[in-house]
Amino acid sequence: MGAALFELPSPRALRTLSATILQLNWRQDRYRMKILINGKFVAKEKASVSVYDHGLLYGDGVFEGIRAYNGRVFKLEEHVDRLYDSAKAIALRIPISQKQMCADVVRACKTNGIKNGYVRLVVTRGVGTLGLSPFKCKSPQIIVIADSIRLFPQSVYDRGLNLVTVGTSRNLPEAINPRVKSLNYLNNVLAKIEALNAGADEGLMLNSQGYVAEATGENVFAIRNGALVTPPTWCGALEGITRNCVMDLARESGYTVSEDVVTRYDLYTADEVFLTGTAAEIIAVVELDARKIGNGKPGRITRKLKKTYSEYASENGAPIQ
Ligand code: PMP
Repeated sequence: MGAALFELPSPRALRTLSATILQLNWRQDRYRMKILINGKFVAKEKASVSVYDHGLLYGDGVFEGIRAYNGRVFKLEEHVDRLYDSAKAIALRIPISQKQMCADVVRACKTNGIKNGYVRLVVTRGVGTLGLSPFKCKSPQIIVIADSIRLFPQSVYDRGLNLVTVGTSRNLPEAINPRVKSLNYLNNVLAKIEALNAGADEGLMLNSQGYVAEATGENVFAIRNGALVTPPTWCGALEGITRNCVMDLARESGYTVSEDVVTRYDLYTADEVFLTGTAAEIIAVVELDARKIGNGKPGRITRKLKKTYSEYASENGAPIQ
């Protein structure tokens, strides 16, 4: 009889092997994404809401998109304030305090090892019946997803964005006020479809009177003779947190900034146009409806503001600890 081809590992080697596997699993698990739902962490694959949740059935709920930079959650209180204002506008009572909500966002970032990333904060109306009445929904669902986002490829940031005016007008304030950041984003989704079908990077939305409101997920600014102008919220713009921050930083840098009615003429003839948003950050617009904006390249003031903004964002925010 020859010697056995394979020797069985010794019990000690087996123990070491299983300990290593356990450790690897633990490490993997530690970095596997966890979603915070109603204050409890759930593995991403298991994170779900009921098919009877009115957030799904009717787009009945509110949300925020928040960025983290350099180990801090940027403009956290402002986002949470806006979330509660949106909720109030749709008569949705969020069952936890704003302080708790801020703490949950930080906790979700910490647990998922996020230092630079993007948080989607969602509050749905909760489980109800198949009827419309929100009064049947007793428990709003609070969901915090700490992840990352990239809206446009780097090349679009470098060369500047191609914008097209879409036919879908921004929601009427008397119907669904665009200031409400609700889960019902069909108005914006339809506009985005039109823009992409037209071969553009992004769509410009007008209000029902034909004045510029905003892009499908960003606010819009025009610069002429060194002065910045952006549409007021009553023209159909969301009160963007990036927008407000850019207005403050631009004023601090000595630029004149105003909120005023903007027409497409103002954008066509501007020296520079740019968009602002939490996810998109600041992005230059170099073409609108086949008209070149300025010299067709990202403008000097836009580039300067972008730098100022990213420096400011990397140094300010609620620490993730
Ligand atoms: N307008 C719309 C329709 C948006 O969805 C967003 C993104 N939240 C913005 C503007 C930009 O707002 P913010 O700077 O607060 O992200």
